[in-house]
Amino acid sequence: MDNRDLKVLRHSAAHLLAHAVSRLFTKTLFTIGPATENGFFYDVLPEKNFKEEDLITLEAEMHRIKEQNFSIEHKEILKEEARKLFANNPFKLELIDEIPGNTVGIATQGEFVDLCRGGHVAQTGDIQFFKLLAISGSYWRADRNNQALQRISGTAFYTKEALDAFLQHQQDLIQYDHRRLGKELDFFSFHQEGVGFPFFHPKGKAVLNVLVGYIRSLLFKYNYQEITTPVILSEALWHQSGHFQHYKDFMYFTEIDGQAHAIRPMNCPGSILLYKERPRSYRELPLKLAEFGLVHRHELSGVLHGLLRVRSFTQDDGHIFCTKEQIEALVIETIEFVSTVMQRMNFQDIAIGLSTKPEHAMGTDEQWEYATNALKNALLKAGKQFTVYDGEGAFYGPKIEFGIKDSMGRTWQCGTIQLDFSQPENFSLEYVDHTGSRVRPVMIHRAILGSLERFFAILLEHYKGLLPFWLSPIQARILTITDKQMEYAQLVYTTLKDTGFRVEVDQSSDPISGKIKTAQREKIPWMIIIGDKEVQKKVVTIRARDGSQQTDILLSDLVNVAKAESKKTT
Ligand SMILES: [Zn+2]
Ligand SMILES: [Zn+2]
Repeated sequence: MDNRDLKVLRHSAAHLLAHAVSRLFTKTLFTIGPATENGFFYDVLPEKNFKEEDLITLEAEMHRIKEQNFSIEHKEILKEEARKLFANNPFKLELIDEIPGNTVGIATQGEFVDLCRGGHVAQTGDIQFFKLLAISGSYWRADRNNQALQRISGTAFYTKEALDAFLQHQQDLIQYDHRRLGKELDFFSFHQEGVGFPFFHPKGKAVLNVLVGYIRSLLFKYNYQEITTPVILSEALWHQSGHFQHYKDFMYFTEIDGQAHAIRPMNCPGSILLYKERPRSYRELPLKLAEFGLVHRHELSGVLHGLLRVRSFTQDDGHIFCTKEQIEALVIETIEFVSTVMQRMNFQDIAIGLSTKPEHAMGTDEQWEYATNALKNALLKAGKQFTVYDGEGAFYGPKIEFGIKDSMGRTWQCGTIQLDFSQPENFSLEYVDHTGSRVRPVMIHRAILGSLERFFAILLEHYKGLLPFWLSPIQARILTITDKQMEYAQLVYTTLKDTGFRVEVDQSSDPISGKIKTAQREKIPWMIIIGDKEVQKKVVTIRARDGSQQTDILLSDLVNVAKAESKKTT
């Protein structure tokens, strides 16, 4: 079934909904009822506000109308006639006035008539599989200054399987929402005292530390040098970089010794000052500076969303200063970097986009052509497929963006590689080439995970809370059947702990079933179960979260088994 067909079905379902509303809540005024990407809605002005319970009765009435199997007839009538038909509804009258020509379309099914330009199924009985989902607030023409309305939304599919799959997916989105998982797993919280500023609890911080450690190991492999630059810098600097002009509404400001300062929304100027700190030779290039940089951005309270949209976050930032001849190889390397990381996180599907010169851009056409070709060639040489987004680059240079598809089918934009002609100009950056002349370097901004906080949220939802062994804050918990095995449990504990694994012993007096239940709730990957038999044979039993067991693992093999487990991506 293609999308167009679904649109027809869903728009017809919106009529079906309106028909049901008109029967049960006769004073309701209808506005518009379009199909959407995931379903349909109808915006209405109710006599009395609809409540969630009303969805049940409305849905039942929709089924009744479906059974009555009215044919849906569409025809054009004179505007004059239509104005009489909808005389009591100022919204429809406004719509009629806006439609060009002398006629407008109407759709009739049974006793119900709606203003409509058409595109329906043949009869109400064709709308078999639908579900009302929510009631929310809206405004006439989506404008806050207009009449407040209520939006009833739902979805419809051609098959029961497709509807069920959709509803399951909706349930998953709620159940595995990172805000919910973060609370359940004691990973992070938000407080009124700092709206939009996340607090990471010990377990959440442990996961972040693993992520940072992993990225650091790759920074080492790719010869980056890690730096730290200040969170607060003078306001003048942000004028020079251009951030103030473009970004000031998103920045926080402060004053130090009577001088205007700003809290950084980006890390770039810090790296630039560090580059400029002394003369640079071509021998130092490419100079790859990495920074886990904490930035603050003033997001409006309405757009804050758990860890996905916060007011302070840490970027796994990197700034590479290079010659233009080095761009291509560096981009190939960065693509490999991103691919390695995403495979490790079990993201199989990476969509790559290349954004080219926008209408208003800095730099010459030659610079843009050179840089865009360098990005393109790098993608081709790396054997990657990509989509070109014409004119979507930043004004200061073309970029590559990586979109990762998660286990629930959503695409998240994470890594970026951004070429920049603008900052090297703004700050008169130079290096001395092999002939002794001063040359402008190219600057590449690149991030692999992007915001660590946001990536953490994406990971949590992607794994549905079941972080793999290597990422879990507590990798293993040792559960004894009785206290008699505590001494051996301690030996198992030190065996793992001393080799760097995050392990705990359950010290509670709960029965083993209770201990398992607790560990299961905390989604700990390994429950190491120890009874008398394990003590005697110097072995352990490993129970995984899915209930599967590995028995008779020799204590002397345990570290190797754990190391093998660490390599897995799920
Ligand atoms: Zn219609
Ligand atoms: Zn940057």
